[in-house]
Amino acid sequence: MLATVISGAVLGIEAYRVDVEVDLGRGMMVFSIVGLPAGAVCESRTRVKSALDNCGYGFPQRRVTVNLAPGHIRKQGTAFDLPIALGILLADGKIPPTALDDTLVVGELSLDGRVRAVRGVLPLAAHAARLGARRVLVPADNGGEAAVVEGLDVRAVGHLVEAVEALAEGQALPVAHPPVFDEPDVASPLDLSDVRGQPQARRALEIAAAGGHNLLFIGPPGAGKTMLARRMPTIAPPMTFAERLQCSTIASVSGLLRPEEPLLQRRPFRAPHHSVSDAALIGGGPQARPGEVSLAHHGVLFLDELPEFRRNALEALRQPLEDGEVVVARAQATLCYPARFMLVASMNPCPCGYHGHPRQACECHPIAVRTYRNRISGPLLDRIDLHVGVDPVDPRALHFAPPGESSARVRERVVAARETQQNRLEASGVACNAHMRSREIAAHCGLDTTAQRLLMTAMDRLALSARAHDRILKVARTIADLADAPGITTGHVAEAIQYRQLDRADP
Ligand SMILES: [Zn+2]
Repeated sequence: MLATVISGAVLGIEAYRVDVEVDLGRGMMVFSIVGLPAGAVCESRTRVKSALDNCGYGFPQRRVTVNLAPGHIRKQGTAFDLPIALGILLADGKIPPTALDDTLVVGELSLDGRVRAVRGVLPLAAHAARLGARRVLVPADNGGEAAVVEGLDVRAVGHLVEAVEALAEGQALPVAHPPVFDEPDVASPLDLSDVRGQPQARRALEIAAAGGHNLLFIGPPGAGKTMLARRMPTIAPPMTFAERLQCSTIASVSGLLRPEEPLLQRRPFRAPHHSVSDAALIGGGPQARPGEVSLAHHGVLFLDELPEFRRNALEALRQPLEDGEVVVARAQATLCYPARFMLVASMNPCPCGYHGHPRQACECHPIAVRTYRNRISGPLLDRIDLHVGVDPVDPRALHFAPPGESSARVRERVVAARETQQNRLEASGVACNAHMRSREIAAHCGLDTTAQRLLMTAMDRLALSARAHDRILKVARTIADLADAPGITTGHVAEAIQYRQLDRADP
């Protein structure tokens, strides 16, 4: 007797359909799974058999063959447990033959029959909708994330017995509801008003948020570099629905989506430690998971103590910084992960941290300072639009300084500047100034003669690359947008040039 249950798997962040075909044949009891199952899928046999036994259905005393089609793609993970168990019961006549028509089923089984959450349910549900599936059967803890997909009948299953009884008697399983789509909640315990003083660093943070630019803070320990960086998400513009869906899909595939927040509300903020492996940072590895750069898609990737990161890891950042995506070559397929993030980094000016400090002496040899700075290669530095010195704060002055402007106030200006950009760039499919290509730069970053001359002088004096030239223009465009100015002025260009201070060959 043959039965087929529709299921699915995820490769990279793309879902594809897998048909779970179950054949009950004559002969001794043998249970085999074919169709390129990886380790966790092979172990499915043990879980399915125990779950069927422990739930009182018994395992058919016959030859049971399960085929996962298409056979040429390797199947990973535990999501096939539930479709295999239901397929066996279907083939065994314990569930009516049409009970699972047009239904995509995923879920891991525990030995006692409870249905456990699996990774990647959001892209799987979206794919089911594209395939024209009427209904999806998912673990209860994945119900909310599947229900994010519109036009799909999502049923949440907590236990194998619950599923079988409902299917056998034609009863309805609990409907999973989508999360309430209210205004994204941006309330955060962090606020920019916590940062006193530091007018230049605050200004750079605002420009970076407004235009989506990459930012590097340079300053001594305790100057507040990390404090500033961690407040970036509090002033960033809210995510669109499409952006939230993309970020949630990446989190779903990585197993990081929480049942209480199935659709991410806030822009991601990822801060990997400097000991992070290349695979964890960029993506790939044996499990082909998205890396930190993709988890930071539409959000912030914060690299604290930038020179401490391994050179290889930093060089690997160049591709996603340029293309907004990561391509990972696998034996069977080339996977592409989105990775359009804003890089925020921080570094000390020298190994001891006090180079240029007004009150503390630097103990480093000039060669040590140069070696330390050279750990950040020119091409990587080129891709960071804003290099900003964060001065040490005088504790006495800080005590009397008024609290800084709140995140909410800064965010209003950021959102207004972002709207200006969207109106201008919408037709070219570009989200913000930082993502402009040469075509958009030529169209929207024209300079008058004086501004042109200023930029040319700076190019010579700072020995800037063509890439740095374009990035200065983009930053100048954002500065003009924050000022609600239609054209870029000499003042805007001058301010943008001032943020390339690390290009200068000191010390
Ligand atoms: Zn030093």
